[in-house]
Amino acid sequence: MNIQDIYDSRLKEQHDLFAKHINPQLVKVLRTIGFDKTYVKAEGQYLYDNDGHQYLDFLSGYGVFSMGRNHPKLKKALHEAIDMDTASMVQMDAPLLAGVLAEKLLEKLNQSIDAGASTRSYASTKLDTVFFTNSGTEANEGAIKFARCATGRDKILYLEHAFHGLTTGSLALNGNDEFKNGFGELLPGCTSVPQGDLAVLEYELAKKDTAAFIFEAIQGKGVYYAPADYLKAAQELCRKYGTLMIADEVQTGLGRTGKWFAFEHFGISPDIVTIAKALSGGFVPVGAICYHRNIYNKVYSKMDRCVVHSNTFGRNTLAMMAGITTLQVLEEEGLIANAALRGQQIVDGLNSMKDKYEMLSDVRGKGLIIAIEFNRPKSLKLKIGWDLIHKVNSGLFGQMVVVPLLSKHRILTQVTGHNCDIVKLLPPLCINDKDVEHFLTAFDAVLSDCHRFPGGAWEVGYQLAKHALSA
Ligand code: PLP
Repeated sequence: MNIQDIYDSRLKEQHDLFAKHINPQLVKVLRTIGFDKTYVKAEGQYLYDNDGHQYLDFLSGYGVFSMGRNHPKLKKALHEAIDMDTASMVQMDAPLLAGVLAEKLLEKLNQSIDAGASTRSYASTKLDTVFFTNSGTEANEGAIKFARCATGRDKILYLEHAFHGLTTGSLALNGNDEFKNGFGELLPGCTSVPQGDLAVLEYELAKKDTAAFIFEAIQGKGVYYAPADYLKAAQELCRKYGTLMIADEVQTGLGRTGKWFAFEHFGISPDIVTIAKALSGGFVPVGAICYHRNIYNKVYSKMDRCVVHSNTFGRNTLAMMAGITTLQVLEEEGLIANAALRGQQIVDGLNSMKDKYEMLSDVRGKGLIIAIEFNRPKSLKLKIGWDLIHKVNSGLFGQMVVVPLLSKHRILTQVTGHNCDIVKLLPPLCINDKDVEHFLTAFDAVLSDCHRFPGGAWEVGYQLAKHALSA
């Protein structure tokens, strides 16, 4: 049976089949908020449903499709790789494409590290070694192991609101309890510290039992980031107390923030950097741990430890080719500069609406990772609606924005974080003037509706609240 036959014969069963065999709760949510679309085609920043409607994708598969979907150069490269019948995953070999991708990744990383050199008081840590993974969480799991082995310490510090993945090690570093509840005891020795608070960080580091401080320079959940010099000072402290810095660039890496890596905005020089998502080009899962040879030497300390940390699929031909081509496309098509430009246009456009809309309280982000935060209104009528909705569920107001953005304007966005009123934008880096204008016009219309009480937008809120209560 070929793929077209499957699409032709079973498309109508899509949601039922998924509910029956995979995740009925997710299907219930999709149906409740009207996200149960049947997308059948995708190109660049657009999705298409089975009725031919075009949608602007401001979610990009949680950050996977930085260069847009189904990029022709990547399709060609992958077709070529398949047609070459390469000797992939021999395992007892040293694959050429892995070496080439590692070289390219390290070049970009060290450029980002060098960019902040003049503003640092400590020496940079040039990164020269790569371990390839299949996902972001696997990259962070490996980074935890490497840091523990290299320092001989167990403890890992992480930031409030952090998200580093959902396997048990990465989950132990999650700043939202909602993700952890119900899964028993996780990796011991993991402690959360508040973002921006150097005193608390130093208090923990001074115990000299911390292997690593892991952070997202710009956090995926809620798009929070610390004041300008926090990470730089944190790194001074880490150096002082012998703790390694792990920059989780799984979501922010490869141009998302308008620079190759988010840590570049903060002039730091991490000891370990983890990457995934966009490196795949949206086709072949791939991640990477990029680190320093000193750390490698501690982990892989003798010949009989040469595969002491290893995996089966990590360096496969298609994943390596996806990574090599992704880096090439990002560079050739100027997508990182485009992310900076479009991000600024969106932030400026949103900020200009603040005077009109009292519930629009904060717009933050860098490049094309943007949070739009709402707060409780002052005017009496709106306050009634706000309080009613929040009594049921504090994440519902965001849905009142996200739902009509999709149903009325065909723009896919998401609510981010737990129990907060934040809508997040994570578009592909290839969006253009027209897309920005379409989003800003749509968002203006949606917020205008939300600021009319009673009205259609609040009706959506009540319907969602009713479902939440009955769930
Ligand atoms: N780290 C960050 C910052 C992420 O945003 C994510 C995923 O959203 C992960 C790690 C986990 O990556 P994956 O879902 O590929 O395991």
